[in-house]
Amino acid sequence: MDSVDLLKKLVSFNSVFPKESELAHYLGDELKKLGFKVEMQKFHDNRYNVLAQRGSKGKPTLLYGHIDTVPAYGYDLVNRDPFKLEERDGKLYALGAYDMKAGIAAILKAVEETKNESERAIKVMFVSDEEADSTGTYYVTKTDFFKDVEFAVATEISDIHDMNEKTRTLSLGRRGRVQYEINVPGKSFHAARMEHGISAVTEASKLAIELEKMNSELPKHPKLSHGNQYVRRFFSESLSLSIPDEATMLVDRHLVVPENAESARKHIEDKINQLYARGIMQEANGKRATIRVKPREVPYLMPYFTSEDNPHLKRLSAAIEKTLVTKPNYNCGLSVADENLIAMQGIPVVSYGPIGEGEHSNGEWVSKKSYLELIEVLKTFLAF
Ligand SMILES: [Zn+2]
Repeated sequence: MDSVDLLKKLVSFNSVFPKESELAHYLGDELKKLGFKVEMQKFHDNRYNVLAQRGSKGKPTLLYGHIDTVPAYGYDLVNRDPFKLEERDGKLYALGAYDMKAGIAAILKAVEETKNESERAIKVMFVSDEEADSTGTYYVTKTDFFKDVEFAVATEISDIHDMNEKTRTLSLGRRGRVQYEINVPGKSFHAARMEHGISAVTEASKLAIELEKMNSELPKHPKLSHGNQYVRRFFSESLSLSIPDEATMLVDRHLVVPENAESARKHIEDKINQLYARGIMQEANGKRATIRVKPREVPYLMPYFTSEDNPHLKRLSAAIEKTLVTKPNYNCGLSVADENLIAMQGIPVVSYGPIGEGEHSNGEWVSKKSYLELIEVLKTFLAF
């Protein structure tokens, strides 16, 4: 199958999460034909990751892709089939064409075309659920699949778009992200004599404003920019004619290296304590606001940065330079992806995808030229 037909085939599968099963099985079968030992890891009802390995020379290099897409947001379903690839002016349009079925197709093509050339150990993981909660990759972390991997390449799109067809951008890191629940106490009193109470809404409002002000003082990283935080949920009510005695907030924060969930929690907690010490917030019955990491099944994604001196990164850069006749630029992503979970396993990981635009919208397209070049880059990388 030629490269564009392969991408056409992949986008024809509806793999909107959580319906990745059919595409997962197709990809598992294709990898078997290309000499891979394949494990279909079932992690929920009818949901799979494809985990594959081939070759025995050296420690494996991992090629990563997610097979799920977001729903067909904004598509006019009467006139446009989101699962049909359409080509216009060198751009290939379809749901998931850019994010990230072109990346999956490029991996498949590259391992197909290097089938007889290289004994290099390669692992491939095609996972589900990246667009939701990264549950697919989280279940891979529970196996020993990552244990001998020494470098990972994700053919994922970058969230900083470099549209220059002549150069190409390689992402060396991403910020992390965590959510915090904050409980702010007030002191209930009959609203008719409210001066005797302390409104939790008022106290929480003061804190919300201070949390946004903190953005200017959050830690900076030379490559990952700086952290940021915002209040994404704010709730309080009184069910009677009383001053509300509790408010809750949900705070979302991006982290940079070397922060982690606990260090950032402590940072906010220190700010809360300062606000009480300075008399800006009032204790209620001797109680202060409390903050905890919001519990969830998949661990929060921590920030990472892969060294520019990594020898495999240099090999990948050389493959890009050979194919495009120019060196790649290095950058970092501002938000989180499955690569964070891979990096949390201690594996240096970089992202290198095709050029495109309009992901998560009805205008999604991938550049045909950059897709075909990506295949050549991966082939050169694997053959070195
Ligand atoms: Zn993606």
